[in-house]
Amino acid sequence: MQLYLKLFVFLFSCLAQLSFASELISITEHERRIALDKHVSFIEDPDHSLSFEDVSELPAEQWHNNDQEQINLGYSESSYWLKISLRNADSVWLDRILEIGYPVLDFIDIYIVKNNIYTNHIILGDKLPFYERLIQSRNFLIPLSFSVNEKIDLYMKIKTSSSVQAPLELWNPIDFHQVDQSRVIFQGVYFGIALVMILYNLFVYLAVSEKTYLHYVGYISCMALFLGSLSGLSFQYLWPTATWWNDQSIVFFLNGVLVFGSFFSIRFLSLKSSTHLWINRYLNGIAWLASIQMICSLLFTYKVMIQPTIYLAITACLSLLLVGLYRCFQGDISARYFTVAWTSMLFGGIVLALNKFTVLPQNMITESATQIGSALEIILLSIALADRLNQEKRKAFAAQLDALKHEREARQAQEETLQVQKEANLMLEQRVIERTSELEDLNKRLLELSATDALTGLKNRGYFDDKFQHYYTTAYRFQKPLSLLVIDIDHFKQFNDNHGHLIGDECLKMVAENIQHVVSRPEDKTTRYGGEEFVVLLPDTSEQGAQRVAEKIRQRIAETPFQLANCMLQVTVSIGITTETPKAADKRKEMFDRADEALYVSKNNGRNQVNSLPAIIKTAS
Ligand code: GH3
Ligand code: MG
Ligand code: MG
Repeated sequence: MQLYLKLFVFLFSCLAQLSFASELISITEHERRIALDKHVSFIEDPDHSLSFEDVSELPAEQWHNNDQEQINLGYSESSYWLKISLRNADSVWLDRILEIGYPVLDFIDIYIVKNNIYTNHIILGDKLPFYERLIQSRNFLIPLSFSVNEKIDLYMKIKTSSSVQAPLELWNPIDFHQVDQSRVIFQGVYFGIALVMILYNLFVYLAVSEKTYLHYVGYISCMALFLGSLSGLSFQYLWPTATWWNDQSIVFFLNGVLVFGSFFSIRFLSLKSSTHLWINRYLNGIAWLASIQMICSLLFTYKVMIQPTIYLAITACLSLLLVGLYRCFQGDISARYFTVAWTSMLFGGIVLALNKFTVLPQNMITESATQIGSALEIILLSIALADRLNQEKRKAFAAQLDALKHEREARQAQEETLQVQKEANLMLEQRVIERTSELEDLNKRLLELSATDALTGLKNRGYFDDKFQHYYTTAYRFQKPLSLLVIDIDHFKQFNDNHGHLIGDECLKMVAENIQHVVSRPEDKTTRYGGEEFVVLLPDTSEQGAQRVAEKIRQRIAETPFQLANCMLQVTVSIGITTETPKAADKRKEMFDRADEALYVSKNNGRNQVNSLPAIIKTAS
């Protein structure tokens, strides 16, 4: 029986809990923070027809108890009325702050009923300028004062284009300020990191003009502004009066994150259309879709845009994670950083979700998980970008070294070619010199040959003509005497006729040898003038000297017997001489004629003798 009684009491208490939709929450002095969501009851007002009076008079059964850890009623056209009852169970006056931790709610009408008497109406929501808030903070704050034993019923009407969420917490003001200070610092650190990274990567972009950095700057900026809008900080600090933009900005920047994130990933993971055509097209598709949504977010309401944006965001996040992993398996070094970074960001989101569903404890780290994940991602990707920059620098340096090496080799090859060419030139020059000297020798020999009489070995008439001109002009220039001997063998025609031409030739040789024997000075020139006639040039020689030489010749020939096989023959010569110190440079012929004349004198006077004709000096009349 007792057991039945106990069971009945238990069931009754359960029923009581169910039926009293809005249970009374007792507050004491020592409570620091109470999560209220579980104790909230609500009703839906689809056509926005209910007034506070209507709602306050509704019987308790019509209210639905929120059994969840969080009030999350999703996206709805309806208005929602929330009710919560609080009582000061302590014997002291209590001040409390009620925090609604979802700063994107559009309109919140709060009616405060103290001890069943309506006392106050507060209007909040991000469709009101920020400055109109009672307490100026990124979350909605409502100050509450409880006198001893006082009961406060709060009625909240929420109308919003965002999802209907109302994380409600009742704070001891001192604790609130302590915790909030840390939260703000946490946020500050995050936005500080984001700002530094934006500036750093912007400067890197300006320095290296690599578009990846610009996309990354766009990505961080959009991410920071998106989180800023979501946490209410952007509304508080950046656009406190732009109530329309405040809603749109969330969609706008989230799409921005997708646009820049996709473009950045394509470049960062080297997903070129030439190597990864379909992934490249797919990610480009996401980026362009997000761009269109970004533009649409300026034209259509938040309510229209938020859902496609969230679907695209989930698709993009998972896709990028998979693509990153795929590139990791392909051995791309940058992809490792990328995947770790992306995972840390997603991990942040997951931790936040688990925190919301109270799987994880509620503390600063779990509450700021998105920011922490995002910060980690930003830092990791920055390191990865710097690493890539380094890699590229190393590659460029190696390429430069390679180019330098090639250049050096080319120069060396060029020098070697030049050296070979130089040597070849030198050889060629040497050969040319050798050939030239050979040719000169040959020429000389040819000249000599052409100037030499083949029979006697004396110089011939051509040579005499040259020498005679040269000696004559020299004698004229230096006014020195020049002597000329013309020698003719006597009766040589007869000799030839008697003994034959061959003997005649031998005789000619003999005469030549004898003349040469007498004419011994190097400057003296003996030549065979033609037939059996010889001429001797004696430069710088007086008439007496010439006569002496001529006499010596005549004598020597006359005394030299010409040996034949069976007899001895006597050969004589007649000689004509002339000596002149020229008075004009062009009187050579006259001088020769005179010598010839002198020869005829010798012939006419009986042969085998020497005669001289002095120069006839004609003075210009
Ligand atoms: P003269 O005493 O007046 O000088 O009489 P000559 O016979 O010596 O003079 P002439 O001018 O009448 O004859 C020259 C001769 O010399 C003609 C030719 O038979 C001979 N003679 C000319 N040249 C050569 C040669 O190269 N060899 C030989 N064997 N005889 C030559
Ligand atoms: Mg003659
Ligand atoms: Mg003769």
